[in-house]
Amino acid sequence: METIILAVVIAVVVLGALGGLIVGSRRRKPLPPPPPSTPDITAPPAEPHVGEEAETPRDEPRRTIEEVDLPGGPAPVVVEEPPTVEAFEIEIPEPTAGRLVRLRTRLSRSQNALGKGLLTLLSREHLDEDTWEEVEDTLITADVGVQPTQELVERLRERVKVLGTRTPQELRSLLREELLKLVGTEVDRSVRTEPEDRKPGIVMVVGVNGTGKTTTTGKLARVLVADGRTVVLGAADTFRAAAADQLQTWGERVGAYTVRGPEAGDPASVAFDAVKEGKEMGVDVVLIDTAGRLHTKTGLMDELGKVKRVVEKHAPLDEVLLVLDATTGQNGLVQARVFAEVVNITGIVLTKLDGTAKGGIVVAVQRELGVPVKLIGLGEGADDLAPFEPEAFVDALIGD
Ligand code: GDP
Repeated sequence: METIILAVVIAVVVLGALGGLIVGSRRRKPLPPPPPSTPDITAPPAEPHVGEEAETPRDEPRRTIEEVDLPGGPAPVVVEEPPTVEAFEIEIPEPTAGRLVRLRTRLSRSQNALGKGLLTLLSREHLDEDTWEEVEDTLITADVGVQPTQELVERLRERVKVLGTRTPQELRSLLREELLKLVGTEVDRSVRTEPEDRKPGIVMVVGVNGTGKTTTTGKLARVLVADGRTVVLGAADTFRAAAADQLQTWGERVGAYTVRGPEAGDPASVAFDAVKEGKEMGVDVVLIDTAGRLHTKTGLMDELGKVKRVVEKHAPLDEVLLVLDATTGQNGLVQARVFAEVVNITGIVLTKLDGTAKGGIVVAVQRELGVPVKLIGLGEGADDLAPFEPEAFVDALIGD
């Protein structure tokens, strides 16, 4: 009996204690706010997240890093949770078709003094000798070159005479036709990156330091990626300390692997390794950036000649692009001559056409080297390199 009474007492005490606890907890004061150092999970993340750096509009399809072939076999494992800063997304460059039309305003801003000037002169009621001389001066000032200028003026004189009275519309189309003839519409301006018998296509980019060579190599990688090609970059400009880093950054943004060597190392061996790597990875194109130290012609010849010879142990070069800074005018032509003696240039890239009114250099440099301008640089932005289209170029010169 005593045991029963004791058990009942214990049960009552336990129940009472539990009830008190519950009531007590209901009455307990709310917890103080967390100390300021406690992370607030509703606040925006402090670190950059996947895709934040991308400039592409949100509605465009994006490739993630897992979808892009990277060197060294399978794609790296990307940690999903939590997102890491390293897990960046590969950018999708702007399509290249019609790029020049889209960038036309850049060109118009700097160039259309030439077209407008010519149209104004040709609209004069009497086209006397002085006026024709002014037409010539305008073209020469825009770096068209003496010989091409004389040819153009001769043809214009002839056609204006035949035309008799001139409406602004007629003059515009006349000038457009003649400028187009001068620039050339028949040449193949595609960058040759698809040899029939093998992969990869091999492109060497040459030019004096400061012309925009490394930037152009990076932008060209984007052009190729935008056209659906895979690319390996060779940082054979081992003389400029920052060049390899600069190129690698360009490559990483579009998923292109960069082969690099030690600073001040042998450019030819970097170029050789880049092509070897490109072959093993099965990419479409290997782009090789080179050093352009114009100290002496012999030095340059030795350097570029060696890079070329070593690369050609794998396969012939498909394209040698010479990068020229359009703002340097006649100096650019001198550089072009020197490089043409050293390597077999197959195409010209004219950079910084957004910063000069001397677009006539397109005509002059093509005449000088006998090779076409294939690409033009119209700004420092990643997609400001456009395939050269004569029609869009001339339209930008003379305006609408
Ligand atoms: P490199 O020494 O020839 O490799 O020259 P970089 O590629 O380092 O370029 C030199 C400078 O020219 C950089 O500031 C580039 O951003 C700039 N640059 C390159 N291309 C263009 C272009 O088309 N327009 C403008 N405005 N700047 C350019």
